Amino acid sequence: MSGWLAIAGLGPGDAALVTPEVGAALAEATDVVGYVPYVARVAPRAGLTLHASDNRVELDRAALALRMAAEGRRVVVVSSGDPGVFAMASAVFEALEAGPSPWRALDIRVLPGITAMLAASARAGAPLGHDFCAINLSDNLKPWTLIEKRVRLAAEADFAMAFYNPRSRARPEGFARILALLLECCGPARPILFARAVSTPEEALCSMPLGEARAEMADMRTMVILGSSTTRTIARAGQPILYTPRFVAAGA
Ligand code: SAH
Repeated sequence: MSGWLAIAGLGPGDAALVTPEVGAALAEATDVVGYVPYVARVAPRAGLTLHASDNRVELDRAALALRMAAEGRRVVVVSSGDPGVFAMASAVFEALEAGPSPWRALDIRVLPGITAMLAASARAGAPLGHDFCAINLSDNLKPWTLIEKRVRLAAEADFAMAFYNPRSRARPEGFARILALLLECCGPARPILFARAVSTPEEALCSMPLGEARAEMADMRTMVILGSSTTRTIARAGQPILYTPRFVAAGA
């Protein structure tokens, strides 16, 4: 029996948003590896071993998965959303590159999932309908000065922006600084969306002009999306629709 390794995205939370391809890999797996809350989303069954670990041990987790696949097991490494977006796929390839050369002959596949940015934008309308960028606001793996530089240049380029990991208890002040920077670059009328726990029972959406946004509106389960200068708000009863038109006038 030959082993394989699938690096799979479980989507933003709702089981209906797990792709059939990921469901099929999980059904064939002997081992599932991942961060505790993501592994908890996989139904236990006979013949399946769940390896849940803490968030900070990504490289150990990746090496464990590669070792088990090399031993002939069918291993699925799970991430939330998409595994290639600020998640485990890069960690596995980092471990592969540094690891023993026979690992390179393994059958390794990345199975995409619906990333939080797309789930959040779908709930709000189409704020990412024109050019946009995605920025991880966590400074665990990069210097804070680089985050500020990228945000400033993205504002100058007039991208809509999707922010992952906006705020944690370990970095409560960083997001307030980002909001102040965005206000300076984009002005108070720019629409901003806070989409929390999208597609879970705790889902909550709220949008407003940037001038009314407060850092406390975000936590680690929130996706923040800032519109570009062309993003529009359609007011109606309940959550307004945010959308960015597909066109920009010549000379803009
Ligand atoms: N690989 C994941 C992202 C991991 S980074 C993906 O593709 O979605 C973790 C961050 O994603 C969180 O801090 C939050 O900003 C965002 N996130 C993940 N799931 C979310 C959800 N259901 N609703 C809103 N934001 C979510």
